[in-house]
Amino acid sequence: MNTSPNAFEFTELIVCDAQAIRERVRAAGVVGAGGAGFPAHVKLQAQVEIFLVNAAECEPMLKVDQQLMAQQAARLVRGVQYSMKATGAREGIIALKEKYRPAIAALTSLLPSAIRLHILPDVYPAGDEVLTIWMATGRRVPPAALPVSVGVVVNNVQTVLNIARAVEQQFPVTRRTLTVNGAVAHPQTLTVPIGMSLREVLSLAGGATIDSPGFINGGPMMGHLLTTLDTPVTKTTGGLLVLPEKHPLIQRRRKDERTLLSVAKTVCEQCRLCTDLCPRHLIGHELSPHLLVRAVNYQQAATPQLLLSALTCSECNVCESVACPVGISPMRINRMLKRELRAQNLRYEGPLNPADEMAKYRLVPVKRLIAKLGLSDWYHEAPLSETEHLTDNVTLLLRQHIGANTLPQVQKGDRVVRGQCVADVPAGALGAPIHASIDGIVSDVTELAITVVRG
Ligand code: SF4
Ligand code: SF4
Repeated sequence: MNTSPNAFEFTELIVCDAQAIRERVRAAGVVGAGGAGFPAHVKLQAQVEIFLVNAAECEPMLKVDQQLMAQQAARLVRGVQYSMKATGAREGIIALKEKYRPAIAALTSLLPSAIRLHILPDVYPAGDEVLTIWMATGRRVPPAALPVSVGVVVNNVQTVLNIARAVEQQFPVTRRTLTVNGAVAHPQTLTVPIGMSLREVLSLAGGATIDSPGFINGGPMMGHLLTTLDTPVTKTTGGLLVLPEKHPLIQRRRKDERTLLSVAKTVCEQCRLCTDLCPRHLIGHELSPHLLVRAVNYQQAATPQLLLSALTCSECNVCESVACPVGISPMRINRMLKRELRAQNLRYEGPLNPADEMAKYRLVPVKRLIAKLGLSDWYHEAPLSETEHLTDNVTLLLRQHIGANTLPQVQKGDRVVRGQCVADVPAGALGAPIHASIDGIVSDVTELAITVVRG
């Protein structure tokens, strides 16, 4: 494993067989950077027909993938080629939006015949992988099934760039590019060491410009409310959004579950708008949020099959933020149901119905979404900064992926160098190793994290 941040940059494909590609990707700790954190080497074990890069980036305030594609187009194409080799895919597709013109210009002249661009409409949630697959290939993933069931493996842009770096430089994932947007002095997209606190990230963007800010970790639709800025950046952190504390996007997230359920019981008028606009329902999944709200309100309306369909909700948040006229959150109700159903180890099995004929026209134009969310005053372009920022201490969470927790491989007082493996999953378990993102001394090891201080 290469521990030098200044490792030689490759400009041509290197010769590497499928197994070596997967091994290098695992050793580098590459996980899905789009939020889910699924270990990339496991995805690359599937044998499929199509490898798809989900480059939709449809959360309106995030500007990472669209700029990285323009800046690192050649590396992205090589990352797709390595991924195609590992998965046996004959076709590679990079699905992106027409408005990402610099990226389209940079990629077009580099594409070999087996890789094509697919231009997506500027709608939300074009980046829900089930929707991206449908738009880019015409294939529909059945509810609760994986993309591999229709012959496709999907990864996002930053993941594919990390795959290329892992294969070519054998350099692990130690940095993350994310957007800081909203009420900040210098909205921007920047690259920082994994483990840097979001407080430090905010200060790199000049700090908040309002007196009582609230913070969202991620985008306005799917991001989570931050309770502390001491939260460290992980391999899946997409952005930091700063909004006034009184902004509806902050206030909605502050509602506790009891209030949420009581609002749903009091005011749901069963208008079914949430279902008519639910993207998963539109492409033929059984999921019907209005029926789930009714089932939670009136238990006599609940059947086991209906409740289990909550497991197929993508949490895209269209039902809450766009559809419901009376402020109910079917998405959060689904999230609560999921928690209970998963605790009981239950699974959903159900039909793939025909897609709604109006499906393409019922997805939400992003411009309208920005206005609807009350973000017009806080929306900025957030240009990509070329500087790679440094820090003096990092907190490396032991769990940054789906699967088993990693186990520390270092002790307090150990000296580590950037790129060194400091935690790994037990042999055979699903997961990916964690690496030091700065040179320094391990100052603390807990059940949750390893802290490294430069020195
Ligand atoms: S949109 Fe709101 S009011 Fe209408 S059915 Fe759904 S939850 Fe109920
Ligand atoms: S969050 Fe709402 S709109 Fe999105 S998939 Fe779930 S139920 Fe459907």
